[in-house]
Amino acid sequence: PRPELDLASLVRTIPDFPKPGIQFRDITTLIGDAAGFSESVRRLSARAAIYRPDYIVAVEARGFLFGAAMATAMGIGLVPVRKAGKLPGVTVGVDYELEYGADRLELHEGAVTAGHRIVLVDDLLATGGTILAAAKLMQSVGAEVAAALFVIDLPDLGGSQRLEAAGLVCETLIA
Ligand code: 5GP
Repeated sequence: PRPELDLASLVRTIPDFPKPGIQFRDITTLIGDAAGFSESVRRLSARAAIYRPDYIVAVEARGFLFGAAMATAMGIGLVPVRKAGKLPGVTVGVDYELEYGADRLELHEGAVTAGHRIVLVDDLLATGGTILAAAKLMQSVGAEVAAALFVIDLPDLGGSQRLEAAGLVCETLIA
């Protein structure tokens, strides 16, 4: 058997992006590595499959990269959650607070409805604000959020505790 692939070593840190003082975790080097990308998707899909979701719901924009690959690997559909004004059809949305200011996430009306079980996917968990907003949006249309999956967790920012406190199951590949 081949040794465990070290996914963390394929993520690079870019200092001072997008603002001075921020250490940005860059996943483009992970997805540019054939073995790294396929192994990430394999691990995420294996975890997601446990919840038997009807859909993968991926958060713009880097969540799409992993979520799309997971959905095809699992043989289920992909539903995008996007920033305000990006989806062409009728949408339902949720407003949420950022560190500075506010933002809005939207979903096509009818894309997921009451009784659907979904797994949320994003590339990285920081404060948890984004995924909590996406979870709220799912719950507002009656969907059941079985779990939230991430490639990377930044544990110092307390996102996983915030998600747990909100009753959301979360799993990450790299901490
Ligand atoms: P949160 O809402 O948990 O504070 O932030 C997570 C969201 O911001 C995710 O959608 C994620 O893509 C983005 N994000 C924040 N910091 C980083 C980072 O260092 N690297 C990457 N790839 N995404 C980040």
